[in-house]
Amino acid sequence: MKIVIDENLCIGCGVCESICSNVFAVNDSTMKAYVIENADLNSKCLDEAIESCPVNAIKKVD
Ligand code: SF4
Repeated sequence: MKIVIDENLCIGCGVCESICSNVFAVNDSTMKAYVIENADLNSKCLDEAIESCPVNAIKKVD
């Protein structure tokens, strides 16, 4: 499983980062969220972050 963020949808609000900062961060230049390298995708906060994205930009992909 991996996490994909649709950059066309992401509005850089930072909600994912604030809920799950060990997995998500927002690039200060592009204002797009990204998944931190080697992030622990078993983090308990992951699903809450995905569900809380206001534009549903975060998806789990097998
Ligand atoms: Fe982008 Fe969604 Fe994260 Fe906001 S919560 S920064 S819209 S991916």
